[in-house]
Amino acid sequence: MDAMTDTALVEARGLTKHFQSGGATVRAVDGLDFRIDRGETVGLLGESGSGKTTTGRLLLRLTPPSAGEIRFGGADVATMSGPALKRFRTRAQLVFQNPFDALNPRFTMRQSLAEPLINAGVPRSERAERMDAVLRQVHLPDAAGVLANYPHQMSGGQLQRVVLARALILRPDFIVADEPVSMLDVSVRAGILNLMRDVRDEMGLAAIYISHDVTLVRYVCVRTLVMYRGRIVEDGPTEDVVRHPRHPYTQALIAAVPVPRVEQNRAAIPLKPARHGSGDLAVGCGFRDRCPYAFERCFAEKPELRPAGAGHLAACHLDP
Ligand code: SF4
Repeated sequence: MDAMTDTALVEARGLTKHFQSGGATVRAVDGLDFRIDRGETVGLLGESGSGKTTTGRLLLRLTPPSAGEIRFGGADVATMSGPALKRFRTRAQLVFQNPFDALNPRFTMRQSLAEPLINAGVPRSERAERMDAVLRQVHLPDAAGVLANYPHQMSGGQLQRVVLARALILRPDFIVADEPVSMLDVSVRAGILNLMRDVRDEMGLAAIYISHDVTLVRYVCVRTLVMYRGRIVEDGPTEDVVRHPRHPYTQALIAAVPVPRVEQNRAAIPLKPARHGSGDLAVGCGFRDRCPYAFERCFAEKPELRPAGAGHLAACHLDP
């Protein structure tokens, strides 16, 4: 293992997921290469349909890749079995998008939190203490009151805290949070985002936040990957990506939302509408049919991620 890979907790190498649909190949995830260091919080930003959720499922081995590999702590996730797979299932957790679906409506909070502990073989004598500790961590200190409740007796914000607690109770090293606040009222989102920042700072766990929301990613993540049509088109420190986006797609995403304290307001990028099914995305830039700057080379050659600043990569033929 070289020094480069030493600090990496998660590495995707050529990660690919293709589906067949109506005789056509859907390139949901199309050759991703990235790494997430221990303790690093990374945003995966893009519109719906860009392949973000499939990427999260691949990282947790909830769906098999068509090609490529994922390494976790240096080990190939695809070949794990027995105790190694069980340990991976403990160390890598998913935070569900919809707290109303994530918890069994017939389970009390105590039962929902006990389930992963039982599955992981945590002794009964330790379970109450683990539940108390994790509920304090998600700022639900009244454990006795919370644990007796059923989901319908709790608010959306409280439920999302329990969903997060359920992911944290096994003390993972890595979480995948898929649109973690998109189903919540605006009024409770800020509280959950603050909590996620606290968790990041206190636990030092690695995380990938999957979102279409630039504001969320900017608030929680130190690094951002921007995804478009199954490819990563930009990868860099979040503040640099938001303030100085290099890729035309990222520029359009940033310009489309009000981002406080960024040079207000960026000129809108005049994107052309997507033309699905028109052309082979295996050839050329996947953004070429919408990009206002597309030129001949963009139709013939797929741009690879190349350095575009300190710790910053972009996949565009325009970038020097
Ligand atoms: Fe636009 Fe060409 Fe850059 Fe793709 S490679 S983003 S089409 S300029």
